[in-house]
Formats: sequence, structure tokens, C-alpha cells
Amino acid sequence: MTPSWLDEFPARIEALDRAHLRRQRRVITPAGGARLNVNGHSLLAFCSNDYLGLAQHPQLVQAACEAAQIYGIGSGASPMVSGHSAANAALEHELAAFVGLPQALYFYAGFATNASIIPALVGAGDAVFSDALNHACLIDGARLSRAQIHRYAHADLDALGRELAQSTAARKLVMTDAVFSMDGDSADIPGLLALCERYDALLLLDDAHGFGVLGPQGRGSLAAAGLHGPRASRRVLYMATLGKAAGVAGAFVAGDAALVEWLLQKTRSYTFATAAPALLASALRASLRLIEQDDWRRAHLQRLIARLRSGLAAGLQGSHWRLSDSATAIQPLQIGRNDEALAVMEGLRLRGIWVPAIRPPTVPEGTARLRIALSAAHSEADIDLLVDALSALARSPFNPDNLSTSLGNAPCPAS
Ligand SMILES: *Cc1c(COP(=O)(O)O)cnc(C)c1O
Repeated sequence: MTPSWLDEFPARIEALDRAHLRRQRRVITPAGGARLNVNGHSLLAFCSNDYLGLAQHPQLVQAACEAAQIYGIGSGASPMVSGHSAANAALEHELAAFVGLPQALYFYAGFATNASIIPALVGAGDAVFSDALNHACLIDGARLSRAQIHRYAHADLDALGRELAQSTAARKLVMTDAVFSMDGDSADIPGLLALCERYDALLLLDDAHGFGVLGPQGRGSLAAAGLHGPRASRRVLYMATLGKAAGVAGAFVAGDAALVEWLLQKTRSYTFATAAPALLASALRASLRLIEQDDWRRAHLQRLIARLRSGLAAGLQGSHWRLSDSATAIQPLQIGRNDEALAVMEGLRLRGIWVPAIRPPTVPEGTARLRIALSAAHSEADIDLLVDALSALARSPFNPDNLSTSLGNAPCPAS
């Protein structure tokens, strides 16, 4: 019998195991505040992108329940057929108004949105310019488009400018995370927009981690940069996801009316996918009202960020761990080695705290880190627990030989 590739999977999984790269899921149930129940243990979690603490909010739950009474659960069809509910239509109007752009289009999932809007915008003979640290779905969308891909060094606008100047492509698309998901730093949006204006490029901004959190009333990174009105709507295609700060699921794009109409016509994951259920759109409408009203959530989050940063600046003195230079709710603690990052994660878990270790290929080799995600659902006391635990762990030297053999079975995932 000739060997078949279908028999290779067990060995391929074992290779992931040996390289400490096999990822585990854990089964969780919410346990109040930022706590999660994992295998019967309550853990204080710093893993969620629910930055405003809205995912469990009673007003969202009530809106979803009421919508289920009216619409049922499933939408039944693509929005292009009969799936475009009154709730989904109203949500699109409210999203466009909220971010100050002419038109919005609401999608079921963020990953599929970026993976499919890019091929609707550019194709063979066109060019995409992509920050080296962009999210996977932007990268996949660019590959699917068959446009030529120019990857520029992270946040290096001089390099981007040189690439744009040299390009002879008919259509140029610059794409970037507005807040980088594994580093927490923000793109220079005014600088990017100026380059796009100079070289007749469209700027696709993925604001998955800024929407709801940054800018006045949480209107997002574009508003935070003071960019709105005709200048922004002419050159920016704004995209944000709705499963993070908004606490629900899905995504939307917003921009110039003809551009968004083109995406409605040509985005395959929009046309050939069942519409998002009206109960999600209804929960999102409730979420949007809270995002707009509840300035205290953002103010509280800012206080927590400052408390964590000053606490760790003191607690980690003398350690080689380095807190990234981030002003957002994403506060990565750079550890370096994969096994040391896993050991710190395990040390925290033994103290009842869950912070995910992020390893290559999600981040560059040698930059394994703990991705601390803060939320308005945390209290100041929660932050102090984390600071104290990390300060204690930083004082106990890492020994790779002591790496717990139970790591793989610990009730914490590593990404
Ligand atoms: C999470 C994320 C997405 C994907 O959104 P989903 O709605 O979770 O599919 C896209 N872009 C960025 C930058 C993200 O962090």
C-alpha cells in the first residue's frame, strides 16, 4: 500500500505538541464580573476583548429576547434574498450615523468581512499595501484578491510612502489594523490618510479594538484622530467588529455611499451567506446606546490601564520582562521565550488568574508574551491582584527544567 497523506495527521499534531505550539480550548461559563468558571475553578480572567463589559449586560440580553419573540431565531436567507430584517436595516443606519460616515453594511463575522471585501475592491493588476503586523483576515483577504501584496515594516510610513511612489498599479489599497491586536499600539491614521491622498489610494482601517473604546462616545479610531466629514468618507473604508467592545458578534464596514453599495453588490461572503439573525442586530442596537451613553465605562477602563502600568513599572523593576508601550486596553507583557511565557501563565493560573500566553506564529519568534486585556468589567482590586501576582513571579527566576508537566492539562488555554 502506498502511504496516504490522510494518515499523517496524528504525527503532525504530535509535532505541534513537541514544539509547545499545540493550542487548547477550555470550556468556560461566566462567573460574574471578569471571572470565568473553568473546569470547576473560578479564574479572574484578563483574556476577553469585551472591553466595556457589555457582553453580559441585561439590556442586551433583553433586546435579544424581545427580538426573538418577534423574528424567531434564524434569518432564513441571505440579506440579498429575504434575510435583511428591519432590525438589521435599522442597525446599519445607526452604525453609519455613529461613526459619522454616509453608509454602513452589517456582516455576520469580522474575519469573513475582511477576507471578502478586499477581493471585491482590488484584483489582478492592482496593489495592496499591508502593515507587517496586520490581522490574519486582512492578509487572507489580500491573498484572495490576487492583487500584488506589498508588506511594509510595522508602522513605517516612510517605507509605505516609498512603496506607493514606486507602484504603477491602477488601484491601490492601503490596509491596517487601527489598534494592533497583539501589541496594543495605534496606527498613525492622519499620516496614512495623507499618503493615501497623495498616491490616490483607499485606506482600509480595521478598528476591531478601537470601536466603542476610543474617540468621543467610543466612536472609534477615526473619530479619535479627529477625522470625519468628506475627507474621511472619500478615502477611508472603515471596518469594525462587533464581538469585542460592542459585546455581541459580527462586523460592519462604513464609508462613501457608492463604495459601500459596490461592496453590497460584490462581497461574496455577504451575498452567499445567510444574514445575521435579527436578535443579534437588536442586541447591537441596545449595545450602541450604552456605548454612546456610558462614558463612565471608558473612564473606568482608562483608570485601570493607568493603574496596571504604574503598578507593573514598580513591580517588574530588575526583570527582563517588558510591558509594551500601549495606551489601550491591550497591555502585552513581553516575556521572550515560549516556555517562559507558558510558565508565567501557569504561575498566574495557580494564583487564580488567567492571562493567555501568545506565541509564534501569532507573534514574531522570540517575542512570546502575555496578552493582558483589560475591561470595564474589572475592578481596581482585580488589577492589584494581577500586579501583585506578576511582581511575585518576576522575582522567582525561571528554570526551564521546572516547567510543569501538567501545563497541557491546566485549565487555561494558550494561543
Ligand atoms: C477579532 C478581529 C477580527 C475578526 O473579527 P471576528 O468578528 O472576531 O471574526 C478582525 N480584525 C481584527 C484586528 C481582529 O482583532
